Amino acid sequence: MPVQPEEEPSPTSTCQRPRIKRRYRFREYTVTPDTALEAEPHVYAMQCGVCSESGPTSTDAEKAHGWVAAHLRSQPGHLTYSEHITRPYRAIPGGWL
Ligand SMILES: [Zn+2]
Repeated sequence: MPVQPEEEPSPTSTCQRPRIKRRYRFREYTVTPDTALEAEPHVYAMQCGVCSESGPTSTDAEKAHGWVAAHLRSQPGHLTYSEHITRPYRAIPGGWL
């Protein structure tokens, strides 16, 4: 994964403008689920597979699932649903390559 370049001024040329030489370095990263206490919470939402209507998002999966029962009362023929889960991840820097 590329990182910010380091800038090194080179000797001034005859036109008095400093020339900037850029050097790029690469670094390894490990991407993993973020389990830290300060991490963003998991967020859940349900979506109807027939009409694509979505229920409210919630950090409580049971509340998100509750929308399905309410949707079924108004749309008894809508029997397929998808659960959308947003889960935080963190990139942990590793060694320079
Ligand atoms: Zn529906």
